[in-house]
Amino acid sequence: MPARSTAGLGTVSRPRNSSSRLPVLMYHGIHADERSAGVYNPLYSVAVDEFAAQLDWLADHGYRTTLLAERARSPRDVVLTFDDGDVSWTAVALPLLVERGMVAEFCVTSDYVDRPGRITRDEVRELAHHGMGVLSHGRTHRLLSTLPREELEEELTSSRRDLERWSGGPVLGLSAPGGRAGARELRVARAAGYAFVLNSVPGPNRRPRPGRYLHRLAVTRTTTLEQFAGLVRWRGPAARRLLLRTAALEAPKRVLGDDRYERLRAVILRRGEG
Ligand SMILES: [Zn+2]
Repeated sequence: MPARSTAGLGTVSRPRNSSSRLPVLMYHGIHADERSAGVYNPLYSVAVDEFAAQLDWLADHGYRTTLLAERARSPRDVVLTFDDGDVSWTAVALPLLVERGMVAEFCVTSDYVDRPGRITRDEVRELAHHGMGVLSHGRTHRLLSTLPREELEEELTSSRRDLERWSGGPVLGLSAPGGRAGARELRVARAAGYAFVLNSVPGPNRRPRPGRYLHRLAVTRTTTLEQFAGLVRWRGPAARRLLLRTAALEAPKRVLGDDRYERLRAVILRRGEG
């Protein structure tokens, strides 16, 4: 049975050992420490050596990184995603991926491009040039569920248009800023031409299909290699911990509403672990 869901968070899947599932991992920036170039975040900045070790673990265990648009699926497929637009994407993550023959989806907030610590338009093109996916992470990073219909449409269509111009290729997916959105946002995103819409509700995506959110598994600075393996395989304490944390975030939202919930969420996430 799926856990109880709300309109905002979608359904949370319970860990299960299944061969027909697609783990989608969520990263932000890759930073050695707070002095590294880019926008360091004490929770979400994954250390460079940890990231490299995670990629090597995937390769050593027969996993294949794949893009969402790829049709043929194997039980060993995994999708890597990155949110926001940190400069470490091209400076650090890209070379580590390319030297291993791996790919990832980069979800760009289009208004962040060319800002200090963020990638440039040329670097959006560089990602696409290396076979990486370029997805939208909104234009302004505002929570989609808080936007009136017209602003929501503008947010989704303008970011897609700009990213397609800069990357020179199609932008097929959207990851929801703040990691969550509801049924209305999914409908508007589909109507705006996004084939894939991702949130950050944890789950393994047992039957990914259009018209559904794709769940993602957050990899953070405190995620150990053992926990990482548990997430990819979607079993063990790492998967259970992610579910518990999501449940802890979900309950207050029903009571508090979006603004107060966001403040509380920031506090919980700062305390959280991988
Ligand atoms: Zn974001």
